[in-house]
Amino acid sequence: SKVLVPFGNGGKLEEAFVLGIKPKSEYEVKEIANVENSLIDNQIELARWRAKKYFCNISDCINLMVTPGTKSKEKKVQDKKINVVHLKKDIKEIKFEIENGKIKSEKQQQILKIVIENKEITIPEIEILTGYSRGIVNTLIKNGYLELAEKKIQRDPLKFKEVEQTDFLKLTEEQEVASEKIKEKMEADEYKKFLLYGITGSGKTEIYLQLIQDAIKNEKTAIVLVPEISLTPQILDRFISRFGKEKIAILHSKLSIGERYDEWNKIKQGQAKIVIGARSAIFAPVKNLGIIIIDEEHDASYKSESNPKYDAKQVATYMAKQNNCPLLLGSATPDINTYYKANELKEIELLKLTKRANNSELPKVEIIDLKQELANGNRSLLSNELYALIEENLQKKRQTILFLNRRGYSTFIMCRNCGYTVKCKNCDISLTYHRFENKLKCHYCGYEEDVVTVCPECHSTKIRYFGTGTQKLEQEINKVFPQATTIRMDVDTVSKKNSHEEILNKFRNENIDILIGTQMVVKGHHFPNVTLVGVIAADSSLNIDDYRANERTFQILTQVAGRAGREQLEGNVIIQTYNPENFAIQCAKEQNYDKFYNTEIALREQLKYPPFSDIILIGFSSLNENEVKQRLEKYGKNTLKEKKKESIFCQSSCCEAGQA
Ligand code: ADP
Ligand code: ZN
Ligand code: ZN
Repeated sequence: SKVLVPFGNGGKLEEAFVLGIKPKSEYEVKEIANVENSLIDNQIELARWRAKKYFCNISDCINLMVTPGTKSKEKKVQDKKINVVHLKKDIKEIKFEIENGKIKSEKQQQILKIVIENKEITIPEIEILTGYSRGIVNTLIKNGYLELAEKKIQRDPLKFKEVEQTDFLKLTEEQEVASEKIKEKMEADEYKKFLLYGITGSGKTEIYLQLIQDAIKNEKTAIVLVPEISLTPQILDRFISRFGKEKIAILHSKLSIGERYDEWNKIKQGQAKIVIGARSAIFAPVKNLGIIIIDEEHDASYKSESNPKYDAKQVATYMAKQNNCPLLLGSATPDINTYYKANELKEIELLKLTKRANNSELPKVEIIDLKQELANGNRSLLSNELYALIEENLQKKRQTILFLNRRGYSTFIMCRNCGYTVKCKNCDISLTYHRFENKLKCHYCGYEEDVVTVCPECHSTKIRYFGTGTQKLEQEINKVFPQATTIRMDVDTVSKKNSHEEILNKFRNENIDILIGTQMVVKGHHFPNVTLVGVIAADSSLNIDDYRANERTFQILTQVAGRAGREQLEGNVIIQTYNPENFAIQCAKEQNYDKFYNTEIALREQLKYPPFSDIILIGFSSLNENEVKQRLEKYGKNTLKEKKKESIFCQSSCCEAGQA
């Protein structure tokens, strides 16, 4: 239960959760002021387990499981009515005041910008988006910039959806075999972990749908996790078309607090039988769980890196055991660790789909050696081959997707006189030039500064911009193909509510010629008229400082390639790279996961990387460098050596990186 308890002499009410009851207390006790139903059975146990496993505070764990909009002392969300703030003053006037320094507080400026962007927004949403307290909003209201209004809303996030009912397809033999194995466990109320490995289009989603139907038939429920970014209307449509809106609850970060509140209650009251959501949907209050499905299980977003930290796949495993139900992981490019556990260790049952369900052809993939292009005098971003194919596509009125995994305009700024590079004051990484806003931005912490024209070190004006991001690519495309319409999708263009969806709809509905984007363009979308996909630089993910660089590269390229030619039209994929011989790139070209896995797992074994070891990063920080050094040495010598760990790598700024 959630309770309110009086604290201190003033008896100020604080929110608390009852985790257990002691017969006698060693403290002075007071009466509880209010008791509210909060968690469902099992959730306290789950919270305890998580707090222990991930070294985090149990109340933080619980907070992820209570109904959104009912937490602590914030204004509670009420049924179908919310307070929104909107502008009171004219936009132009506010912008003028910001530009002329009349509104000095950066926090106030940021909040005003958010309200301008969203037109109407709730205060909790502002608090979540900015991390600032409502006090600043109140000041803005008091000073006549913002106005608070009560608004009645229909918080059904699916209200505009009109989807035709579809029927269940007759499963292919492969699908049938896989689905029977899972059904068997589901019907026997037994835990088991499965990996459904099948290329894009092999019918994994159809299997999910039929398993869920089976669960519902047996009065059970289902949780389906998908990566945040692929929670697109197209995916939702497939579920709605089978099960109808009433039985489905969706949960993701783009919903307002109010929508989340309603969806949560819809689940709690048992109206929603199917929960579809991003990773935190695993904490939804579902009762009578029949199956948990994690699609694109290799996706990095299932791990939460912010507090309270957790890995949704591990949480799902725990829950599946707790609820005696199967856990189904699905992917076209499974996580190496997952596949190892399935293929070698047999901890997970491996189910394979080898054919495309609707018999569509895989696209033709070609690798272009950029070193060769350069040797032939081509210094542009597009190889001759890709250029020619784009031109051909434009003539045929077919669509093209260009993928570049770097946003912004230029990736670093350097003084050619002294070699000074402009770095973030907080993170010490290179700032990226954003041409549209004419700012230098840190992609790590969000820090921004004005453009540099004179070197702060040597005062020379030989400041140059290097590297290519999506903004520059778009500019170059507009220059060489002035007749083409283009649209760009990256974090910078999709920060507004919903615009992810808007960009994709626009691309499809208005038949925009070329979509330029980062990672975001890769997943889960379905564009029948796209017949060409160009990867501008496959190397960007190969050079990341991570043992999973090959794996990430293979996954991204395979997924990108899967965007072309999904329907009757044949597809072409061009991968440009400086490392054409790299095996991850080669295997992606052949769409050969098995070959990739075999090469990669041998490498990992040789180098003692996971799954043959565990890697733990232990960070130390202090304002005093010496103190960090001493603590680090002491910790390394005493704690880790005692435990006979293989090796310790010091990566503090005082040592050579990677020094053992
Ligand atoms: P995946 O999730 O593996 O990418 P989907 O389930 O989306 O695959 O299936 C790809 C396409 O094949 C979809 O258009 C789907 O409707 C179709 N499909 C799937 N299973 C069957 C089936 N048994 N018979 C006919 N078409 C199918
Ligand atoms: Zn300089
Ligand atoms: Zn930074």
